[in-house]
Amino acid sequence: MNTGEKDWDKKGWKDVPIAGLITEPGTARRYKTGEWRTHRPVWDPEKCINCLLCWIYCPDSAIQVKDGKVVGIDLEHCKGCGICAHECPSKVRAINMVLESEAEAEDGEKVKEETMREGEEGEKERKEERKGEGGNEK
Ligand code: SF4
Ligand code: SF4
Repeated sequence: MNTGEKDWDKKGWKDVPIAGLITEPGTARRYKTGEWRTHRPVWDPEKCINCLLCWIYCPDSAIQVKDGKVVGIDLEHCKGCGICAHECPSKVRAINMVLESEAEAEDGEKVKEETMREGEEGEKERKEERKGEGGNEK
């Protein structure tokens, strides 16, 4: 199907705007710039006072705000520049930068724990069901 849009991989140099100008707004949404990150901002909602300085200064609009309060960080677009952590008031320090590799390892551990917990809960439920059906579960 021809959508009228050219695939970037198939574009030639004549298709690239002079000086690489960005000719339409909002194109960053199509690219997960967070993949470049070496450090990840870790936000602590318990410490956050919602001053929104991080939201004002983030160059990638990656601080997610709802009803005037920070609700999280868009890690698909955060490049890990650390500006948010720098601007967060020193008495608060609600954002800390950690090595991406360490954060990923921690994420992996959490997923493993959740999978194991779900597996155990599922096994418990199956045992209860078998008991209900008059099985000989101990
Ligand atoms: S590290 Fe940089 S890009 Fe990421 S949320 Fe903070 S200010 Fe935005
Ligand atoms: S700068 Fe720090 S305290 Fe202020 S909204 Fe952001 S995370 Fe919360």
